Amino acid sequence: MFEKVKVDENEYVRVPRDELFRVVKDVFMAMNVPEEDAEIVAENLVMADLRGVESHGVQRLKRYVDGIKAGGVKINPNIKVVKESPVYAVLDGDEALGQVVAYRAMRMAIEKAKKNGIGIVGVKNSNHYGIAGYYAYKMAKEGLVGMSLTTSRPLVAPTGAMEKFVGTNPIALGAPVEGEEPFLLDMATSVVPSGKIEVYRRKDKPVPEGWGISTENGEIITDPHVILSPKGTILPLGGLGELHGGHKGYGLGVLVDILSGVLMGATWSRHVGGTSDKHSDVGHFFMAIDPGAFGDAEEFKKNMKKMKEELHNAKKHPNFERIWVHGEKGHLTAQTRLEIGIPIYRKVFNEINEIAKEVGVEPLKE
Ligand code: NDP
Repeated sequence: MFEKVKVDENEYVRVPRDELFRVVKDVFMAMNVPEEDAEIVAENLVMADLRGVESHGVQRLKRYVDGIKAGGVKINPNIKVVKESPVYAVLDGDEALGQVVAYRAMRMAIEKAKKNGIGIVGVKNSNHYGIAGYYAYKMAKEGLVGMSLTTSRPLVAPTGAMEKFVGTNPIALGAPVEGEEPFLLDMATSVVPSGKIEVYRRKDKPVPEGWGISTENGEIITDPHVILSPKGTILPLGGLGELHGGHKGYGLGVLVDILSGVLMGATWSRHVGGTSDKHSDVGHFFMAIDPGAFGDAEEFKKNMKKMKEELHNAKKHPNFERIWVHGEKGHLTAQTRLEIGIPIYRKVFNEINEIAKEVGVEPLKE
């Protein structure tokens, strides 16, 4: 039994996967979100917790509920295809729940790739879509190489700056592997996503040095409350300055802004709004590639397997138990949690139950 994050069982409550899915889905339905859409959002949030990505799981439920209440998110949006060809499309999300319009765009990318070898579908006028890996994983499960990118609220300082400017803009790539779960790289382009700092804030614990700086004097700070306030900012992947490649993480964040923001007619970096904001104009980018269009699809999967084996067998560093390939820890964690339940931080557990009671939904049981 493996879990990528060790949790203190006194601080967490284990909830069966289906029960967590049930309560999240029911909360959205109680807020008049159509059933099919409520299922997509619930699946996305629960998948994060299942795979050990606590930062983007059900701890975010309140944010979505508040977004709907504030009118920042439309529950019955008029999603429109504004441009389309056999290999690309652009959707206007009409301020839908991010997951709902993103799911539709991802399905279109899959269908185009299956018919024409490649499908690129962008979205403008959307909201937060949860974990980028949810979409890349689904594309890979269909035998395609899938890429998923999204803009997000400005939280990261460009190299040389000391203000929140670029989003934590994630990149996810999924690819099928013969006889195994897909390869799945799913990462923020900042040192950490804000959700990971929110986890520390909830626990009132300092974050490791190197995640954030002060916006007043540029010094490294570790107080999660300050980093998430206007007095602090997150650093790009690679950290402060250029020594450990901070400029490259910053560049990857801008890459995401270009493909999912500027290219799709959505806004970018400092202009992207949060879930409760009207017209947050989040942009997404989905690309599905049929390996069969470029070579032999079965050969591709075989070679993916071979490549993974070679990575596992690289000369091992003495301080590490093993060499992992992206997606493996998440998958093993999911297997464990399907068996023994998903750990939910007690404060989050109580918060979910408060929301459930408020909207008239059966709360979670301990
Ligand atoms: P992590 O640092 O937790 O993981 C990054 C990637 O590395 C994952 O693919 C993970 O796969 C893999 N991995 C972990 N350890 C190893 C290892 N030792 N060797 C090889 N691969 C490894 O991700 P982040 O904290 O950066 O991001 C968390 C989530 O936040 C993502 O799902 C992202 O999409 C989401 N996010 C969403 C945003 C939004 O606005 N919607 C903004 C920013 C982030 P594995 O499954 O195996 O652990």
